[in-house]
Formats: sequence, C-alpha cells, structure tokens
Amino acid sequence: MRSITTFDLQYAHRFYRFQGEAQYLHGHTGRLTIEVEDSIEPGVNMVFPCNEIQKVAWDVLKNFDHALILREDDPLLPAILAVYEKQGIKNGAPSNKMKGAAFKTGLATAYPDCRLVVTKETMTVEGMIKIVYELLKDKLNIAKLTFTSGVNAATQEYTPVKSIDRCPLCGVALVDGVCPKCGYRKK
Ligand SMILES: [Zn+2]
Ligand SMILES: [Zn+2]
Repeated sequence: MRSITTFDLQYAHRFYRFQGEAQYLHGHTGRLTIEVEDSIEPGVNMVFPCNEIQKVAWDVLKNFDHALILREDDPLLPAILAVYEKQGIKNGAPSNKMKGAAFKTGLATAYPDCRLVVTKETMTVEGMIKIVYELLKDKLNIAKLTFTSGVNAATQEYTPVKSIDRCPLCGVALVDGVCPKCGYRKK
C-alpha cells in the first residue's frame, strides 16, 4: 500500500538559454507529491505517517523554499552572489531562519545561508523530480514523485526494493532497532 503526502515550495528560477519566456527570472509555487510504498505496519495500521514523510522530506527540501534555483553555468549566479556579498547577506542574515540542511549531490548543491540551490541541469519539473529522488531515495521508500509548477507537471514511478522497519507504536522508521520518537526497542 502507499502513503501519500503533498507540499508546496515557493521558488524563483529560470531556464538559462531556453528559447521562451522561461529564460527570464520568474517565480512559482511548486507542488511536490511523494508516494511511499511498503507493507502496512500492523501496530499503527499505516504504511508511514504522512507527517513523518513531510518531516524527513522537508529537512532537505526547505532549501528550495523561498529560494533561488539557478543552473551552475548561469551568469546570473555570480552576479547575484556579488549583490548578496555587497549587501552583507551572502553568508546569512538574522532573519534567514527557516534553513534546511546543506547538501551536495551529483545534481544539486544547496547553500542555505543565502537561500540558493545550484543545479547541474535546468530545473524543469522533470529536473526537480530527479533532484528530489536523489536526495530522498535512501530515507524513504519512494514509489512515485509528482511535481507541478504553473502549467507544467511531471511524474515518475519507482520500484521500492526494500522494506523499512517501523515502530509499531508510532510508525516512524527505527534506527538500529530503536524508535527515535518513543524509545520502543525491537525484540
Ligand atoms: Zn518556471
Ligand atoms: Zn515509536
């Protein structure tokens, strides 16, 4: 069975060198849907609590919210960083609080201090799905990702290969046989 959760990300980006309006800097509310597949954990009668999926995903995806997402070869990148530097906000600001954990994968690098994600490929809805899968595949049993942004939407299905041991009392993933939330120990 599947547990499904959806959340919104507000971001600015552009498609560098794309022959269309999207080559100009603009913003979106993107909507990401994550479908997680596993057996039903009998103790809680759930695949995975949806608020836990949100928590695990949001830890890293916060980096894309109220953020600027640019391709690594986009000349806007050094230009914007120069402005941030001059203004003294490149390495953070007291009001920049909702920061995700910095990450670096083959497809994207997050700089939470200046709310920037630098991508290897253009951040289309398809590109975002590749980035999200890379970031979360080891943490969640992802069966399907869907991302919509304006009139664009993309979806990709995956075959989860493993089953995650979950707490029979609260449903969260066990870490070395122990529930990080309630302390339950697997016998
Ligand atoms: Zn766009
Ligand atoms: Zn528990």
